[in-house]
Amino acid sequence: MFKKILIANRGEIALRIQRACRELGIKSVIVYSEADREAKYVKLADEAVCIGPASSNLSYLNMPAIIATAEVTDAEAIHPGYGFLSENANFAERVEKSGFVFIGPTPESLRTMGDKVAAKQAMIKSGVPCVPGSEGALPEDPKEAIREARAIGYPVIIKAAGGGGGRGMRVVCTAFSSAASVCTTRSEAGAAFGNPAVYMENFLENPRHIEIQVLADNFRNAVWLGERDCSMQRRHQKIIEEAPAPGIARRIIERIGDRCAAACKKIGYRGAGTFEFLYEDGEFFFIEMNTRVQVEHPVTEMVTGIDIVQMQIRVAAGEKLPFTQRNIQMRGHAIECRINAEDPYKFTPSPGRITLWHAPGGPGVRVDSHAYTNYYVPPNYDSMIGKIIVHGDTREQALARMRTALSETVVEGIHTNIALHRELMVDAKFVEGGTSIHYLEGWLGQHHR
Ligand code: ADP
Repeated sequence: MFKKILIANRGEIALRIQRACRELGIKSVIVYSEADREAKYVKLADEAVCIGPASSNLSYLNMPAIIATAEVTDAEAIHPGYGFLSENANFAERVEKSGFVFIGPTPESLRTMGDKVAAKQAMIKSGVPCVPGSEGALPEDPKEAIREARAIGYPVIIKAAGGGGGRGMRVVCTAFSSAASVCTTRSEAGAAFGNPAVYMENFLENPRHIEIQVLADNFRNAVWLGERDCSMQRRHQKIIEEAPAPGIARRIIERIGDRCAAACKKIGYRGAGTFEFLYEDGEFFFIEMNTRVQVEHPVTEMVTGIDIVQMQIRVAAGEKLPFTQRNIQMRGHAIECRINAEDPYKFTPSPGRITLWHAPGGPGVRVDSHAYTNYYVPPNYDSMIGKIIVHGDTREQALARMRTALSETVVEGIHTNIALHRELMVDAKFVEGGTSIHYLEGWLGQHHR
């Protein structure tokens, strides 16, 4: 096992990784920007090194500074968390060339899955069902794009091969606008992601977002740890996640889960990963793979009892998975609410000083957050300041626990979306379960115009 790991991230996930290291008896080094000097995990760290100013480009995305810090602190491995450099193949390669272990998949896996066209092709080869669409990237000729669209059937969605974070997508409903939309998406993608390639898919009108968590080691062992329903989204950003997905028969989930684990073995995947699907009319359609730990990983940890971050570290250290698929048991129901520093209905960011922070507690309640009373939320980064996760024997119990937890939570000095979560936890349709990816935006339009 490693003696020391460098954590190349910030916020709640930096604290989460630090906790995993502590439990495994591993020392950790935190790198931080000038804006994060006051963060809880910086104060708690075995070692902490400031690597640059607030701007991510000069700190959390600064590869030479991070690798140099690993060198001077004698760290053996680097955990990239999520976001920032976590899915950057060049970073993973530079980390390994410098003699450190990258806690994540191989650079080749990152490269393939980072290109959505290549990822889809790899999935089709591995027997994972995908959204019907263009075979590979679209050719330059606009007439070809129109022909493709007609073959796929309107509406279609044009997506950037290098896209991410809900950006670089455009829905097209008629032949009239399709050629122009392909052109616009292509030039936007070139500018934003440095890769102008675009592809086309059938636009599913009312799907749910269901994803499968996988874990794989270096010895071609792979398991799947159940599913998560992340359909409660706004502008493609998830805000509530749960496991298991309400109302889907286990045998349907098992079939897709087994395919995902088989695909991992086929492509030589290692570490933690997530296969994201749209689910409509009893069918799964792959949209992309996330090659890192995800924000919503705790709901899976709560129902399986498996510590995903510790498993990432153990697999990276060369250990075999300590269980097989048969040993994995799902128990009860878990729900996560992401707490964001923002206006609950207008969604404008609300950074600033937290004058009072009171986290909830009690049976089945977990809070992953780096915030505390007097913590200053810097304006430079993502607005998520923590997550409340609850577990219950049933979905009803989990919902009741989340309502209680949210009623106990106090955050003063900044705006948060807690009021929104409180309303959603008593919304009849959400309580019933199985809402689509468009439900939240429709609900907001109705209730908070
Ligand atoms: P990103 O990497 O930017 O998150 P994804 O491919 O995961 O992009 O898609 C993000 C979201 O866009 C999905 O969760 C879904 O809401 C929507 N979306 C993507 N592809 C389709 C599709 N074929 N039909 C309908 N909605 C889609």
